[in-house]
Amino acid sequence: MKQKIFYTKPSITEREVSLATDAAQNGWGAQCYDYIHRFEEAFKLHLGVKHAIATSSCTGALHMGLAAIGVKPGDEVILADTNWIASAAPITYLGAKPVFVDILPDTWCLDPEKVEAAITSKTKAILAVHLYGNLSAMNELNTIGNKYGIPILEDAAEAIGSIYQGHKAGSMGLFGTFSFHGTKTITTGEGGMIVTNDDALYDQLCTLSNHGRNKNQTKQFWPDTIGFKYKMSNVQAAIGCAQMERIDDLIARKREIFAYYKARLANIPGIKMNPEPKGSTIGAWMPTIQFYNSPESVVERLKQNFNQEQIDARVFFHPLSSLPMFDNHGCTPIAYRTAKQAINLPSYHDITKNELDRVCSVITGTLSEMG
Ligand SMILES: *Cc1c(COP(=O)(O)O)cnc(C)c1O
Repeated sequence: MKQKIFYTKPSITEREVSLATDAAQNGWGAQCYDYIHRFEEAFKLHLGVKHAIATSSCTGALHMGLAAIGVKPGDEVILADTNWIASAAPITYLGAKPVFVDILPDTWCLDPEKVEAAITSKTKAILAVHLYGNLSAMNELNTIGNKYGIPILEDAAEAIGSIYQGHKAGSMGLFGTFSFHGTKTITTGEGGMIVTNDDALYDQLCTLSNHGRNKNQTKQFWPDTIGFKYKMSNVQAAIGCAQMERIDDLIARKREIFAYYKARLANIPGIKMNPEPKGSTIGAWMPTIQFYNSPESVVERLKQNFNQEQIDARVFFHPLSSLPMFDNHGCTPIAYRTAKQAINLPSYHDITKNELDRVCSVITGTLSEMG
């Protein structure tokens, strides 16, 4: 029996184990926030932002961020129809409505023209998600945001290592959020981060993330408002600190795996992969191939063949508007088409050349099977 190839798996070395052990042994009492602060500092430095707050998840970070900018019942937040539910759910937690717009056919991220057409008097924010590490069209979105006075937010959970014209993904919006779930480029098991360069927003986030207690409040146990409890633990942050020491390597390896697939596959007629526009770099979190001319049966067959070969193949995100809890407004043909034509490829840090070749030969084999 062939060994299974997982689509993702964290890279944990002695260093992560050693720092987590130290946190478990010593990170209590006066030291109980040390790794958390160290992790936040390392992350700020990496990203080049002023403020960062570690959280228990990206979903929680988004919930707090949206609350901090005042998203409330009746408001609308625009995002791409092609997304994981975690980007949309926090909008609904606040009683607001996610408005799904279509994607660009190359980046699979927000189409700025569709964004502008979807703006109403209720639009409170535009959430740019850098899907699979691909970069959203930030210049165009910022132009639209400025024109209508609507903030651009970034969900950069999948975009560690992605750089848009010199700016790291997550550092360009009013705030940016990250995930350190076990599938992401760096991990703390579960975890997240919210970052911003806006001092007033940071103050607001500090209050919200601390059960609503303002940092200038002198009365003990006196919350000034209803807040949240989405904190990261010190033990998780210790793992994060070790991952931050290795972040350049972790990103470089993702890019190397992507480059390998690209060299092997991108020249096959009818295939395209994650684009890397001139002047930008992608973190290549999830190498993805799209059969843009093929019937959907190609991807169906490919999934079967991957399965048979013990290879985890991950389906491309279903359009959020196709899920039962949202309205299916049927105005996002590219999101619907791409979901049937594309598939994510395995890309964990320790994947071997032999395993990458196994993945590639299933793809080329499937294509020749189908003529
Ligand atoms: C993984 C992911 C999330 C959710 O992150 P959690 O830390 O699991 O809450 C949100 N948005 C995007 C784009 C993601 O990829």
